[in-house]
Amino acid sequence: MPDIIKLSRSTVEKYLSCPRCCVLDKKYQIKPPSLPFTLNIAVDNLCKNEFDYYRKIQEPHPLFIENGIDAVPFKHKDLERWRSNFQGIRYKSIEHKFKKNGFQVAKEAYLLYFNGKKNEELFNNQLNFDVHLIKLDCSTSWVENKIIDTVNLLRSDNFPKPSLDCEYCNYLKKRWQLSIT
Ligand code: SF4
Repeated sequence: MPDIIKLSRSTVEKYLSCPRCCVLDKKYQIKPPSLPFTLNIAVDNLCKNEFDYYRKIQEPHPLFIENGIDAVPFKHKDLERWRSNFQGIRYKSIEHKFKKNGFQVAKEAYLLYFNGKKNEELFNNQLNFDVHLIKLDCSTSWVENKIIDTVNLLRSDNFPKPSLDCEYCNYLKKRWQLSIT
């Protein structure tokens, strides 16, 4: 590794989800294949558009009202730039970044996710979703330490073990075992 390691937020994200993948990616430029999640991207875009609507009129989203959340979507001139910079990054990193830039960040965050209903009687060219809103604790005091841990791992000769429940690695391991028998 070079003397100065340029660490992106996505590298730290990778370290958090699987240190081995972080080393493979950052040290050896080996990345897992990416899958096309067309439907997920469409739902994500529609959700963003909906929140942008309420951001524009500075009114609470109906889900906020339904769940007693006293807030409106945050409006800022740099929002589009942040979106392209923060793409694919978990909320903890975004929150840490906001705090570092002097913004006040609430103690809680909400994760909104949509689960497609698979057992509807008819399709009718329409997909319905169950909506889940999950409250998350917003402590970021651990982030600095994880950045340091990521750098220390990349500077070391340590090659961490794969996660036991990762589909990719289990698939490759089984393929490998078969080909050497
Ligand atoms: S366990 Fe999964 S995430 Fe980790 S290195 Fe293997 S493929 Fe990557």
